[in-house]
Amino acid sequence: MSVEKVVIIGSGPAGLTAAIYAARANLSPLVFEGYNAGGLVPGGQLMFTTDVENFPGFEHGILGPKLMTAMRAQAERFGTRFIREDVVSVDFSRSPFKIRSDEAAADAHAVIIATGARANWLNLPNEQRLAKTGGGVSACAVCDGALPAFRNQELVVIGGGDSAVEEASYLTKFASVVHVVHRRDQLRASKIMQERFHKLVEHGKIKPVWNSVVTDVIGESSIEAVELKDTNSGAIRRLACKGLFLAIGHTPNTELFKGVLGTDERGYLKLSRPGSTYTSVEGVFAAGDVADHVYRQAVTAAGTGCMAALDAERWLAARGIE
Ligand code: NAP
Repeated sequence: MSVEKVVIIGSGPAGLTAAIYAARANLSPLVFEGYNAGGLVPGGQLMFTTDVENFPGFEHGILGPKLMTAMRAQAERFGTRFIREDVVSVDFSRSPFKIRSDEAAADAHAVIIATGARANWLNLPNEQRLAKTGGGVSACAVCDGALPAFRNQELVVIGGGDSAVEEASYLTKFASVVHVVHRRDQLRASKIMQERFHKLVEHGKIKPVWNSVVTDVIGESSIEAVELKDTNSGAIRRLACKGLFLAIGHTPNTELFKGVLGTDERGYLKLSRPGSTYTSVEGVFAAGDVADHVYRQAVTAAGTGCMAALDAERWLAARGIE
């Protein structure tokens, strides 16, 4: 088997941007674009979004799947090769590195990991059905919150962390009121975010729903209400809404790299040099949400994908591989 110069694992904005840069640097990258690992599909989280209105260059927004199809075609145009399979194992213990899927295998001098993260869901049947059909259930307020269907409507956010406060305050720009449903009676969010939250509560823009969990999502083609259970009394009630946004954390797709690469306490890949994409193994780089629990935007993922390709290119060149 010939040794690839660079193998990229993942095909969201980070992986495909890395591919575009690596291909243009004549590294002829091979991308394992995934199949359904972690509930994702080739193209990653944006494949589940409708309008992407904050990716620079698209004045009128662009559909998530359209953006990812264009990125893939751009990478392919410069010579990127793709394998539509999930990677099932890696061996980074010695060079060349080994990457395996069920039907394929590759040896590589350098690897870029861009496996992303997946939003956590409650995994209620109606939540999943309406999320997949654009029925007003989303795990990304910044991606979907500005859609016309949510204007001047009552919306629900679930969660009590920084993301929940951030998403809820973003939604107050559009909603008539945002109900924040949290399973405890106090936020986990940072102090500054808590202050922002309480100000919005004072102004009537946010209504907290403490000690409550969502036990069902009601609606046929679009959401009409959530069913709430009071965690103290067990009482069940309905809260009418036109949108539901989950902000109950993300899980990085790093299961493959457990014990192989350094991770932080949340499981995100740790970068060994600040401001770079180097991981704990020389020659293995990380880009996008898999190593970023803070920004988690398509544009930041694309930016770090570019950085990873440049880091890999320079790392390979220093070893005479061009
Ligand atoms: P997080 O801090 O882990 O908070 C998740 C929230 O969801 C918690 O309040 C948790 O409840 C709740 N939750 C988890 N599972 C649940 C379930 N099954 N049902 C109901 N509620 C559930 O996650 P995050 O808010 O996404 O933040 C992640 C990291 O990113 C944090 O370090 C945060 O500081 C950072 N972040 C920063 C900013 C910012 O500074 N602007 C913005 C976003 C994120 P409990 O509280 O009961 O555990």
